[in-house]
Amino acid sequence: MNPIGAKDFYSRDLPQKLSFRVLVVEDSHSDVSLLKQILKRSPSVRWDLTVVERLQAAIASAREYAYDLVLLDLSLPDSEGLQTVSDFIDAVPDLPVVVLTIANDENLAIKAIARGAQDYLIKGEITPQLLARSLRYSRERGRLVRELKQATAEMEAFSYAIAHDVREPLRGIYGFAHALKEDYGRVLEVEGNDFVNQIENNAQRLETLFEDILTYGRLSSVEVQLQPVILAEIVREAMERVREEVTGSQAQIEVSLDLMWAIAAPALFRQTIVNLLTNAIKFVSPGQRPQIKIWAEERSPRTGEKRVRLWVEDNGIGIAPDKQKSIFDIFERLHGIESYPGTGIGLAICRRAVEKMSGTIGVDSQIGKGSRFWVELLGVRNS
Ligand code: ADP
Repeated sequence: MNPIGAKDFYSRDLPQKLSFRVLVVEDSHSDVSLLKQILKRSPSVRWDLTVVERLQAAIASAREYAYDLVLLDLSLPDSEGLQTVSDFIDAVPDLPVVVLTIANDENLAIKAIARGAQDYLIKGEITPQLLARSLRYSRERGRLVRELKQATAEMEAFSYAIAHDVREPLRGIYGFAHALKEDYGRVLEVEGNDFVNQIENNAQRLETLFEDILTYGRLSSVEVQLQPVILAEIVREAMERVREEVTGSQAQIEVSLDLMWAIAAPALFRQTIVNLLTNAIKFVSPGQRPQIKIWAEERSPRTGEKRVRLWVEDNGIGIAPDKQKSIFDIFERLHGIESYPGTGIGLAICRRAVEKMSGTIGVDSQIGKGSRFWVELLGVRNS
């Protein structure tokens, strides 16, 4: 059936009365009678209501009959709060759910939408027009969510294939190239050894690429636990991870962080800083010694929220103004692999990780004058 909007429903030219089946899950008799009264006045649509009082009865009914929409109260005799939404959607995934809330409870309604409800309506304020609009909107939103789920499932299958079916033979190539060098290096002569080295290097590059793609893919479905973290601790752990690169490049890193807290997922925040540091060390002119500064500041944007901005500044080659947004896109690289190795995924991972933490990321830079990357997260009050 095509989605039909409120405007269409109430057009005077409609020749016949349309009919929609709605499952109302509500244990308050007065709310149900009010709803029935209101919907009776509907000029061109017949609202065929089935009312049940319990979640389990709703699930059974929705499995048996074809409804167009469910109006779901969250407080039922056998279920309470957001769990009601989750349990209903788990049991009947393809039916649009519109949550019924009381006035001033929009926060709960928004959380219900995050759990998979399509829309919410405030009890006592429902009109036939609003319900029609919600029906149309819910169907459209439901369709998009289904498409998104399918695309995510395909992406996951692709990642799985990379993780297993592609990486395994790749490790074989690397392993045999290594064995060839070890056991037959003497008879291969210089050119033969060079070829084997190239095979090894390319296999290694592919392995890193797969690793990065998998990390990036996993980030879209990972559930993050946000918690207060001390910036200095996360930075110290990130620096541990890049110790080899620091030693190899003789980079100098200056950290000046007071006891400052932010709301973050520790592993994601650490990974973000590792990626920024790796780039700060890598993207310098040949022979130049990387000099990196890390510091943070508190900010209070107009919303009145307390936020914390962490800066990672380098003395590297810089980034042209017109590229400062696109470098956060996946596979965006400004240099050939010969001058600077990499996969073009590091900053895309940073952006996704920071967004997962409800933060923002960006860069200030000038070609030849270094770059200053920043990550802004929610701060902790009274820190
Ligand atoms: P990779 O480092 O693997 O190439 P990234 O996603 O981390 O990929 O970075 C994307 C591109 O942004 C890099 O290829 C480089 O051109 C540019 N870039 C990132 N960080 C810096 C930096 N600190 N200084 C200069 N250019 C940078």
